[in-house]
Amino acid sequence: MIKQQKKPDKRKYTIMLVPHQGQAGVRSLHIPIVAVKCAAVAFCIMVVFLIGITVNYHKTVDTAGMEKAELERLRQVNGSQVKQIEELAKATAALQQDMNRLNKLDAEIRRIVNEDNDGNTSRAGLTRISPEPMQYAGQGGPNPPSLSDLQQTVTAMQQNLQVREQSLQNLKEELLAKNARLAATPSIWPAAGQVTSRFGWRNSPWGSGSDYHPGIDIAGDYGAPIVATADGVVVHSDWASGYGKLVEVDHGNGIVTLYGHCSQLLAKDGEYVKKGQVIAYMGSTGLSTGTHVHYEVRVNGTAVNPDKFL
Ligand SMILES: [Zn+2]
Repeated sequence: MIKQQKKPDKRKYTIMLVPHQGQAGVRSLHIPIVAVKCAAVAFCIMVVFLIGITVNYHKTVDTAGMEKAELERLRQVNGSQVKQIEELAKATAALQQDMNRLNKLDAEIRRIVNEDNDGNTSRAGLTRISPEPMQYAGQGGPNPPSLSDLQQTVTAMQQNLQVREQSLQNLKEELLAKNARLAATPSIWPAAGQVTSRFGWRNSPWGSGSDYHPGIDIAGDYGAPIVATADGVVVHSDWASGYGKLVEVDHGNGIVTLYGHCSQLLAKDGEYVKKGQVIAYMGSTGLSTGTHVHYEVRVNGTAVNPDKFL
């Protein structure tokens, strides 16, 4: 049993040790207050220190755990990025193959267009293309391509695309010009019917002798439609001596067509007409022996055989 008593001396604690039997053997322990306080302070410091160590330990363990998790995450990200680069490389290689096919197609179309071109067709502005397919770094192989390989490939493809776009743009302009030339070139019959008089010297339909016929006559039904044989601008739509009711269309490049003896004129002076557009109806006005259209083609003011344009 421990009995604690406070002595009058306030600077010390006295602890009395009393045995259970009798008063003999009672012993007193005198401990200075300063020592007790020091011990208490030391104990507190130790507790704080231990708490500190414990907290620090947990922090260290937590940090290590986080670092490990972060490393694992980075490893996963890295693996995923490698896969992405491989996928990108496959897509780029496929794009290159598409590009090579496009180059070949461009070359084929250009060859066809040039074969079809006549002597008057300009070939200016055509872009030559390399017959060799493009070869870039980073195509397949056991090792995955690096990002810089892919970058080079993409840059080369961008440059090739620009060349290809310019080439196709030139081709488009070339074809548009060609279409315009074709549209402005007389190439169809002006009316349905039967050719009753050809171009050139013929027996005069007005009696004896012969006369020079500057066009062809196509006989058909009265009021049958007469169409422009090419795109152009109407430069005359009125009565003309001998021709009766006449339409004259200027197609540019010195080419003019005339449609005579009409019963009715539809196209007006200055009107832009398209190939195949109805411009008048068949009749027998002017110097005519029956219903027909007199079709005439002039090149630089000289009547030529319309057969060349049919
Ligand atoms: Zn005629």
